[in-house]
Amino acid sequence: MDFALSARCEDLREQLREFADKVVEPATAVYYQQVEGSGDPHFHPPVMEELKAEARARALWNLFLPDERYGAGLTNLEYAPMCELMGRTPLLGEATNCSAPDTGNMEVLLHFGTPLVHEQFLRPLLDGEIRSCFAMTEPWVASSDATNIASRIERDGDHYIVNAHKWWTSGAASPRCKVAVVMGVSDPEADPYHRHSMVVVPFDSPGYRLVRTLPVLSHDAGGGHGETLFEDVRIPKEYLLGEEGGGFAIAQARLGPGRIHHCMRAIGMAERALELMCQRAQHRVAFGKPLADQGVVQDNIAESRIAIEQARLLVMKAAWLMDTVGNKGARFEIAAIKVVAARMATTVIDRAIQLFGGAGLSDDWPLAQMYTYARTLHLVDGPDDVHKMQIARRELRKHEAYRAQ
Ligand SMILES: Cc1cc2nc3c(=O)[nH]c(=O)nc-3n(C[C@H](O)[C@H](O)[C@H](O)COP(=O)(O)OP(=O)(O)OC[C@H]3O[C@@H](n4cnc5c(N)ncnc54)[C@H](O)[C@@H]3O)c2cc1C
Repeated sequence: MDFALSARCEDLREQLREFADKVVEPATAVYYQQVEGSGDPHFHPPVMEELKAEARARALWNLFLPDERYGAGLTNLEYAPMCELMGRTPLLGEATNCSAPDTGNMEVLLHFGTPLVHEQFLRPLLDGEIRSCFAMTEPWVASSDATNIASRIERDGDHYIVNAHKWWTSGAASPRCKVAVVMGVSDPEADPYHRHSMVVVPFDSPGYRLVRTLPVLSHDAGGGHGETLFEDVRIPKEYLLGEEGGGFAIAQARLGPGRIHHCMRAIGMAERALELMCQRAQHRVAFGKPLADQGVVQDNIAESRIAIEQARLLVMKAAWLMDTVGNKGARFEIAAIKVVAARMATTVIDRAIQLFGGAGLSDDWPLAQMYTYARTLHLVDGPDDVHKMQIARRELRKHEAYRAQ
């Protein structure tokens, strides 16, 4: 395994870092002032459009797409350090058109969308003109098992009729979100892995509505996680993604890059938390000396550095495998990093919160928001427990001969 970055990627990372530090960071306060001033937590602040224009002018746009015709043409391994910076500077992802769930959706539309879908939805998404959401999870079934998804997508001549009740549809509350990728049952008689299809549903379709937005840990953060309802929504047959019955396979394909991007961002976030922890420890004095001189604080700092390095190496290995043997060949490493990165990030951020005392739980520092996000990582794109089940099953298969009859 060789994790060294090419000269081109080193250069790109430096450009991205400079954009993050000199342009995006200083604009962050303006961003939040504009949102607060509007009185609407889902308001799209004009400063974001300025950041996007600047990112495009600097050719820091769609970095996530490995396909050079549409993106930067980076491998997963090359994208890792860029995505890490996006975890460190939260607005950087949207500013460079690299934020979830659009990145995963764009990949799906690119690979499985018809020419009509490309023209109506993929192009404006690639240009950052609209946003999208991914509607798979449902309130009434255990959605961590995708075969449980019960919404319906039924063929009717040249159309499909969609009846779906979803929730945790991230981004659905944004006024710029114009389209959802929806998963539902198209053939109830088929086997559980070929029963589902995926379609795109424009939000201006009659029959669609946002029921409510869901707070996360009592925070009404800008994520705009929606409970969404699709009642007898009629869409043209060209809005089908891939083949009928291919929904489960597309969901699996989407989750590979989506998951590793979450992990890369988690590492960037943990790096930021550790930086803040070290800086605070140097100047906060208790019991006659800086916190940095307390052994217990040093232990927490050292453990955090070790955990970040371990997680990063495993993420790089998974990225390298995705690049060399494909997403399927890397699935166990992807499952492992999803568990490791979430655990590492929550632990490191929690230590930073503790060191900050009361300030750590306030909104004066980014730690509380980071913790909220890191906690969701234990669930989004599959709960830890399901990833561990998959890893354990593979290990146990190696020793099947020992099974009691
Ligand atoms: C902030 C946030 C954003 C999200 N964004 C999206 C989105 O944009 N689109 C979308 O479709 N969904 C989204 N989700 C939903 C998320 O992907 C699901 O919550 C997750 O997949 C779990 O599904 P569930 O909630 O139905 O839990 P369930 O399937 O009911 O599972 C509950 C718990 O059961 C346990 N469990 C399940 N299976 C096993 C097993 N095999 N072994 C041991 N324990 C097990 C786990 O502890 C699991 O957490 C989001 C969720 C959150 C919190």
